[in-house]
Amino acid sequence: MVGGNAIRGTRIGAAGPSSESERGETAPRSVVSYWCANGHESRLSFALDAEIPDEWDCPKCGLPGGQDVQNPPSAGRTEPFKSHLEYVKERRSDEEGEALLEEALEKLRQRRGRA
Ligand SMILES: [Zn+2]
Repeated sequence: MVGGNAIRGTRIGAAGPSSESERGETAPRSVVSYWCANGHESRLSFALDAEIPDEWDCPKCGLPGGQDVQNPPSAGRTEPFKSHLEYVKERRSDEEGEALLEEALEKLRQRRGRA
């Protein structure tokens, strides 16, 4: 029985190197190109068993890139961030505007009070 195991062992050992050499060959990879709205191409290679994302942020400009060169994802996706900043600015100006309005109303009230 020991001899049988040894034979099996050598067979497994013989199979090992061949599978390793298979791995050593150019690993099968799928190359996927992503294009952003600015026309930048980002070429990425993924392992075949890897999950390929539909979109990839462009490393050059940060815009989202899609696999369809004719129809890259719109830059609108980054707008929420910008509009958040704008929202903060708007809110500030609104507060200032409200303060000015309050001031104006106060003057009106004072005028009315005098009149
Ligand atoms: Zn880009």
